[in-house]
Amino acid sequence: MSNLLATHSRTRLCGEYSADHIDEQVTVFGWVQSYRDHGGVIFIDLRDRSGIVQLRFEPWVAQGVAHKLADMLRSEWAIGARGKVISRGDNINRKIPTGEVEVLCDELEVFSESPTPPFEVKDDLDTAEAIRLKYRFLDLRRAALSRNFQLRSAVYQQTRSYFADHGFIEIETPILANATPEGARDYLVPARVSPGRFYALPQSPQQFKQLLMMSGMDRYMQICRCFRDEDLRADRQPEFTQLDLELSFTTVDQVRTLLDGYVSGVWREVLGFEVTTPIPSITYDEAMDKYGIDRPDLRFSLPLTDLSDLLRETVTFRIFRGALDAGGIVKALYIPDGKAFSRKDLDKVLPAEAAIYGAKGVAWARVQPQGAWSGPVAKGVDDQLRASLNEALGAQEGGLILFSADKPSVVNAALARLRVVTAERLGLIKPNTWSFVWVTDFPMFEYDENDERFYAMHHPFTSPRWEDMDLLDSDPGAAKAQAYDLVVNGMELGGGSIRIHRSDVQQKVFETLGLAPEEVAEKFGFFIEALRYGTPPHGGIALGLDRLLMLLCGAESLRDVIAFPKTQRATDLLTGAPSDVEPSQLTELSIRSAVDD
Ligand code: ASP
Repeated sequence: MSNLLATHSRTRLCGEYSADHIDEQVTVFGWVQSYRDHGGVIFIDLRDRSGIVQLRFEPWVAQGVAHKLADMLRSEWAIGARGKVISRGDNINRKIPTGEVEVLCDELEVFSESPTPPFEVKDDLDTAEAIRLKYRFLDLRRAALSRNFQLRSAVYQQTRSYFADHGFIEIETPILANATPEGARDYLVPARVSPGRFYALPQSPQQFKQLLMMSGMDRYMQICRCFRDEDLRADRQPEFTQLDLELSFTTVDQVRTLLDGYVSGVWREVLGFEVTTPIPSITYDEAMDKYGIDRPDLRFSLPLTDLSDLLRETVTFRIFRGALDAGGIVKALYIPDGKAFSRKDLDKVLPAEAAIYGAKGVAWARVQPQGAWSGPVAKGVDDQLRASLNEALGAQEGGLILFSADKPSVVNAALARLRVVTAERLGLIKPNTWSFVWVTDFPMFEYDENDERFYAMHHPFTSPRWEDMDLLDSDPGAAKAQAYDLVVNGMELGGGSIRIHRSDVQQKVFETLGLAPEEVAEKFGFFIEALRYGTPPHGGIALGLDRLLMLLCGAESLRDVIAFPKTQRATDLLTGAPSDVEPSQLTELSIRSAVDD
């Protein structure tokens, strides 16, 4: 057994040393970051999660025993040492916070050696991410990553205390659960003792948290793992962490005020940034109309203008006419500083961005003196029409108009993208600005033309606005929900809703979603039954904590704030999960693998 561990405990973490500790006899533990020999004196940078302290080994100290051992040290060995904190005199290292001091060591113990690591543990690393993930335990020794997890932990503490102060109690809900309809595919777990049956890992604790309101828990919070088996687009993880909340006897405004307090507190504490509260709100309809998207980035203005009504009567320009005649729309993004965009931007770069969203092209016009236009659209509109379009857009000489004409979904998505691309190009997005907005009054349902049915826009437990209750029968597509999303800088931080608290309304929503009564009974029978027993009006929200932390850490990927993340193919390169299993295990689970057939 180790001597040092048995006889001494660590005095303090490596990164905590300063001139205040000079002359102190100390014990340090950590990993060898680097080794240097300067004229027979050995210097070791010793690292732990807090930072680095320099150790000094001289051949004439303590008969040179520690020095001799130090001479063998290599990167990433785990060691302990004892010695005296001394000043570095003129050799202060300003690059590290402990740079005024070093520990002159007279004792050294190697706890464990390490082979040469596959990459050096340092922040500016260009090693392929796959290698970093395979050796995640080394990757996580890097200061930048380590810092993210320390911040993550601090935010967890702040979160728990904020909600505890607001009367929330923390309750865990099952992981082996039933399916929750959040719109993704379920991860299934075979139930050995019920052959042929499966648990679903929760896509969210939605039904449980509502059941907790029915149970009289009043205010629930949980930092919980959710699982969604989706094809992983850019930055998603199959398992992720939500801050999940639910409150009884509440309203949209109360949930918003509570969350305003939470996010402004976190942004203040972590970034020193004052979020203006109350956080403003915009309705879904207005967001779609002005910005083409339900999570608008409001760090800059650049609103869109719907020109369909102005154009409908008289326009002959083929692309506009065609879109309008086919029931589509024409919208435009007006950019006051049009000179920033070259012909190549207009013909290639911007259309390529719009094409990602299905747009067949981007029509454009440059505004010349006296409101004249140049560019492909110029000849397609007469003077009178052009004048009214200029007026609607507030167009001035030097401006640039980007048009999109197609189905509303394509037009909105394409122009929403162009808004961001052009704002970036124009330098309108200032660093370290945070623009929060609540998006409210989402539609209850989205109609899917292909499936010829409605889907819940949020989830099926969301309540219509009280005044829209009757629309569930007469015109479900027009009903608006008491649903809200919290958006920052064009990213959705979270979303929630006031819930249905009456079993008849819940039943009706399931019917509108095209679920047969037997299906409702089978999947949600317990829930509809529970709703009958004096359910309090309630509502809640869930925030994506990984994304929130990514923003707070200034990280570029969710993977930088998740200790053991998965790849785009939902694999864990460190453990090799998912892995093969023994045929006997499958037999035990009453499962036959189709892959082997
Ligand atoms: N369960 C929802 C989600 O995971 C959040 C909520 O409605 O509270 O997105």
